[in-house]
Amino acid sequence: MKEEVEKNIKEFGFPVVTDEKTGALQWVDMRELNVRYIMSVENTKPFFEGLRENKLVTTKCRKCGRLFFPPQKDCPSCRDSDMEWVELSKEGVLETLTVLFVRPPSFAKYNPYTVAIAKLDSGVRITAWLKMDPTKAKPGMRVRVEISRREEEGYYMYELVPSE
Ligand SMILES: [Zn+2]
Repeated sequence: MKEEVEKNIKEFGFPVVTDEKTGALQWVDMRELNVRYIMSVENTKPFFEGLRENKLVTTKCRKCGRLFFPPQKDCPSCRDSDMEWVELSKEGVLETLTVLFVRPPSFAKYNPYTVAIAKLDSGVRITAWLKMDPTKAKPGMRVRVEISRREEEGYYMYELVPSE
């Protein structure tokens, strides 16, 4: 693709290519984007401490009783800041899944992977990679959250796995 873009820059003056499938004209920015973001996790520290202890924890609003995942500093529902930390059951039901063959650049080094949404037994939904053969995955099946260290980066993450 790079060659085609360079040819088109010379010829047309723009970094454009024609999409193979749709024939639509596409802009290909030749500047590579490297993003490293820094964000405060001070308010969600218990979540990360929980992962280290193999626990999935989140926030619950003391005022309206709603659970939120990922954890929230303030209740998105009643806007109260009186949140408490609670441990979630890691068991739930698979709702939907999709296999990503076209990965975002930051995940391009991985093999095609499956992203799924599960509804945990506590009622909250969780989006995570699904670690199983996607052709054998069926919405409605029981799954659970597995906490492990992501290979390569070495930090904690969570995935969905079939629940036996
Ligand atoms: Zn609330």
